[in-house]
Amino acid sequence: MIDTHCHLNFKAFDGDVDSVVRRFTQKGGEGLIVVGAKINSSEKAIEISNRQSICYAAVGYHPHHVNEITNFEEIEIQLESLIRNPKVVAIGETGIDFHHYNNYPAIDLENKNRQKQLFEIHLNIANRNKLPLIIHCRDAQQELMQFLSNFMKDKCLTGVFHCFDGDKDYLKSVLALGFYIGFDGNITYKANSHLRDLVSQTPLERLVVETDSPYLTPIPFRGQRNEPSYITYTIDCIAQIKNTISEDIRKITMNNAKELFNL
Ligand SMILES: [Zn+2]
Ligand SMILES: [Zn+2]
Repeated sequence: MIDTHCHLNFKAFDGDVDSVVRRFTQKGGEGLIVVGAKINSSEKAIEISNRQSICYAAVGYHPHHVNEITNFEEIEIQLESLIRNPKVVAIGETGIDFHHYNNYPAIDLENKNRQKQLFEIHLNIANRNKLPLIIHCRDAQQELMQFLSNFMKDKCLTGVFHCFDGDKDYLKSVLALGFYIGFDGNITYKANSHLRDLVSQTPLERLVVETDSPYLTPIPFRGQRNEPSYITYTIDCIAQIKNTISEDIRKITMNNAKELFNL
C-alpha cells in the first residue's frame, strides 16, 4: 500500500520520522509521498526521501501561504531547481483555497489573484517537466476547475485531487479531465456520509489513498496525531463501501499510485 500524501516534513514528526516509517512498513506499507507546502518543507521532503528508500517527495507552495511570497519568479526558480532531485515525483501541493481560516486575514480579490498566479506557476512547471500535480482545493471548486480546464485546453496534465470533497458534478468533471481522486481518514467520520457517497461514485481505477498526516486522523484514533500506518482504516472503510475485501483496495490503490507517480 502507498500513502500518496503525508507531511512527515512537518514539525509534528520532528525526531520521529524513522519510527513512523518503520510502523508503516511493518503494516505492509511500500511507499510514501512526502508533500511540501513551502520551499523549506519541500526541501525537507527531499531530505527525508533521500534518507528513507520508500519515501518520495512532492515540491510545491501551498495557496494557504501565498501572502508570504514577495517574489513569485524566485519561487518558480527554486521549485524548478528542487525537481532536479530524482526522488521528486510530483508538483504540489498546489491549488486554490478560499476557506477562511482562524487567525488569517479574509480572502480578498488580491489574495485570490495571487493564488491563481501561484497555481499557474505550478501548472507550468508540471507541464514543462511532465510531472503529475497534487492539487489542493477548498471552497473554490468552480474557480479551480475553470482555471485548470482552461489551462489544459492545449496542454496535457495529470495528477490527483487530494482530500477530495465537493458535489457529484464536480467529481465527474475531475474524472473527465483524467485526474485521480484522493481520499483520507475523514471518510471514516460519522458525519461525512457525503464523502462516502463520493467514494462509491469514484471508479476504483482512479482512486488513491492518503493520510495527510499529521491531520485527518481516521477513527478510532481521531483526536490524536495521524501517521501513515493508520491508512489501513481508510482502506478498510473504502473496502466496505465498495463491497470488497481490504486486500483488493490495497492492491488497486497501490497500482494506481505507481502508475500516476511513475514509482
Ligand atoms: Zn491539502
Ligand atoms: Zn496536505
